[in-house]
Amino acid sequence: MDASTDRDAGDGAGSVAPAKRVFVKTYGCQMNVYDSQRMGDALAAEGYRPVDSADEADLVLLNTCHIREKAAEKVYSELGRLRDMKQEKRADGREFLIGVTGCVAQAEGPEIVRRQKAVDMVIGPQTYHRIGEAVRRARAGETVVETDFPAEDKFDHLPMAKPKVTRKRGVTAFLTVQEGCDKFCTFCVVPYTRGAEVSRPLARLVEEARGLTEAGVREITLLGQNVNAWHGEDAAGSPIGLGGLLRTLAELPGLERLRYTTSHPRDMDDDLIAAHRDLPVLMPYLHLPVQSGSDRILKAMNRKHTADEYRAVIARIRAARPDIAISGDFIVGFPGETDTDFEETLRLVRDIGHAQAFSFKYSPRPGTPGAELPDHVPEAVKDERLQRLQALLTEQQIAFGRSKIGETMDILLEKPGRKPGQLIGRSPWLQSVVIDQPIGEIGDLVTVTVTEAGPNSLFAVPASSHMRQKRVS
Ligand code: SAM
Ligand code: SF4
Repeated sequence: MDASTDRDAGDGAGSVAPAKRVFVKTYGCQMNVYDSQRMGDALAAEGYRPVDSADEADLVLLNTCHIREKAAEKVYSELGRLRDMKQEKRADGREFLIGVTGCVAQAEGPEIVRRQKAVDMVIGPQTYHRIGEAVRRARAGETVVETDFPAEDKFDHLPMAKPKVTRKRGVTAFLTVQEGCDKFCTFCVVPYTRGAEVSRPLARLVEEARGLTEAGVREITLLGQNVNAWHGEDAAGSPIGLGGLLRTLAELPGLERLRYTTSHPRDMDDDLIAAHRDLPVLMPYLHLPVQSGSDRILKAMNRKHTADEYRAVIARIRAARPDIAISGDFIVGFPGETDTDFEETLRLVRDIGHAQAFSFKYSPRPGTPGAELPDHVPEAVKDERLQRLQALLTEQQIAFGRSKIGETMDILLEKPGRKPGQLIGRSPWLQSVVIDQPIGEIGDLVTVTVTEAGPNSLFAVPASSHMRQKRVS
């Protein structure tokens, strides 16, 4: 979840002048990856095409994450490097603009331009739709800071990617359906940086998803900070939740797979659980963070559920979809966490049998209630607990991978592998699957038999009648 990634921002197809180049460096979660693409689409309309490094660019955007660690400090040190680059380019008479977007932009605001004068733009996550205008103002010499939460929906003002651009991005796509969070877990900055929970309307989501599938996307992952809090109205005006949205999207021609992330245990309602039973396109994988197995710590975290309530919701989901793989997020070393509390977390992990998980040391975030709590856990204790938790989670992940050996399953071919002729696909349970024999093209859903399982990938061969369906282009 926290893999810092450098991704391109889109394609300048349809650009007015090919001369301008943008590099977007994306930190953090999938929602930032999606936002970077949408900003890239908006900048394509301004004549910018994406490039792969700051060195080649006339405009660099750091799309930042503020969830853990010294995120802001990392951004400031990257900005120091960019300032030097800007001086060199300016000396050569070249344009070079620097923008900071994302949650650090929101949290730090004007402080960023005070600390690093080379920055031309600071744009919070709710004002991306003004990025084109901000770039025009910055090119005219203004320093732009936009961190308010405007009344208008930014997504209504952001252009959709052209089919050619979508196709280039691959056969899987993200679609943000919900933003912000009202849960206020005491460790988390999201409610402050992304604001209150907002659900995008059903009709817009169907339109965007249709655009994706018509361009050749086969798998869509619905995104939200608290995605299962999504709510809207169906065509008849009746209220629906995420289950209803998934049922609607499942009807789209050409769409083979649906996923969603990230969910809160309290918002797993009956209809959503029933969708896991009813919809073959909804993949049997659920990322459901729990954070801790201790009720005392869950209360201090303001998680609004107990460990047993989490066990109970997983039991209901498994009753609806027995083969579902459960993933989660965990925090060790929250203030006041004792050895006994930590043992409760290990017990929960064993009880659930998480097939996959992300685990973190607690990182106090300025402005959150957790940071003000007494009894902060020493770093050395956090390190030791994290190692023990990760050892257990890795053991379970490997066991889950091995349990698939000999199984025949459909995989979606996503990209070429490192070796010639090799292809990488994804299992229904989100495992990476490597195939060394000819089996189909990127975008095909093919049937394979798993022969081996490594710690992070499965290895497979074509099953006897391997091609279930050709790509719809
Ligand atoms: N909305 C999700 C949920 O309900 O848990 C998760 C959102 S957050 C972007 C992703 C994960 O980062 C969290 O589940 C949590 O495990 C971790 N996280 C958030 N704040 C943290 C902090 N202050 N220190 C360590 N990890 C943190
Ligand atoms: Fe943060 Fe998730 Fe809690 Fe919301 S539910 S406050 S996003 S951890």
